[in-house]
Amino acid sequence: MNARPLPPSRDLRLVHVDARDRRSIISLRPGGPSFGGEEIAICAGPCAVESREQIVATAAAVAHAGANVLRGGAYKPRTSPYSFQGLGRDGLTMMREAADLFGLSVVTEVLDPRDAEIVAEFADMLQIGARNMQNTALLRAVGETGKPVLLKRGLAATVDEWLLAAEYIALTGNEKIVLCERGVRSFDPSTRNLLDLAVVPLLASRTHLPTIVDPSHGTGLAGLVAPMGLAAVAAGAAGIMVEVHPDPASAVSDGMQSLTFAEFESFMESMPAVAAAVGRRLPKHYAGSLNATPPS
Ligand code: PEP
Ligand code: MN
Repeated sequence: MNARPLPPSRDLRLVHVDARDRRSIISLRPGGPSFGGEEIAICAGPCAVESREQIVATAAAVAHAGANVLRGGAYKPRTSPYSFQGLGRDGLTMMREAADLFGLSVVTEVLDPRDAEIVAEFADMLQIGARNMQNTALLRAVGETGKPVLLKRGLAATVDEWLLAAEYIALTGNEKIVLCERGVRSFDPSTRNLLDLAVVPLLASRTHLPTIVDPSHGTGLAGLVAPMGLAAVAAGAAGIMVEVHPDPASAVSDGMQSLTFAEFESFMESMPAVAAAVGRRLPKHYAGSLNATPPS
C-alpha cells in the first residue's frame, strides 16, 4: 500500500481551476468594484485608520486619483504588543463614513472570529492578514458572513497552503474569495519582503479565483511601490492594494512604504497604458465632489 500522503492539490475541490468552467469575477456591489473581469480594482488607503480627518482626506485623494476601494485597518495585527493596535469599532465607522462620502467600497482586516459580524456590518470586503492565513477558525468565521473575502498570502506560505486556506473559506458556501500576494519572507533584508509576482500567472493556472498584488507590504519601500504595482498589472493581477497616507513621515504604522497623495496620483496616471497593454482597464473615475466634509 502506498502510504505517501496525497499531494495537497487533490484537496482543492472548490477553488481548483477545473472546479468551474470559467474564471470567477468577484463584485463588491452591483456596478461597483469587481475583481477578475476586464476592469481592475484599485484598493488604496492608509495602513491604519488614525483619525476621522486622516481617513476622510485619504478617501478624497484616492477617489480623485482613480481608486475604487478604500483600505485601512481598524484592527491592526502588530508585531509588537506595545504598538498601536487600531481604533477598533470607531475606526470602522470613520472608514465607512469616509468611503461613502466619495463613492468608495471598504476593505478592512478582521483579527478575531468574534469581530467578523461587526466588521461585516461596516465593510464590503473582509481582509484576512498574512499572519492569519492559516487561522482556520477565523477563515470559517469570515466565510460565514457571506461577504467577499480578501485572503492575503501567509508570511512563508506555499501556493498549496494558500489555496487550501481559500478552500476553508469556500467550504462555508462563500466562494467570493480574492487572493492577495503581499511578499514572502526571504534571506535578503534589502526589501521588507520578497514580492512574488510569478504567482500571479501561476495561480491563474491553479485556481479560478482572482489574485491582486500589494506592492506596499511586498517591498516595504515607497519608491518601489509604483514600479512593482505596474509590473503586477502587467503580470495579469486583478487589482492592486496600496498604502497611501496624508503624511507618511508621521504615519503610526508603515510610513516607509506609504505613498503621498501626489505619489499615488502620478502612479495612477501611469496605470491605464499598462492595463491597456494586457487588455484591462481602470475603474471609472469618481465624478462627485471632492470637497465633501463629514457631518460633525
Ligand atoms: C495590512 O494590509 O495592513 C497588513 C497588515 O498586511 P499583511 O497582513 O499583508 O502584513
Ligand atoms: Mn500596513
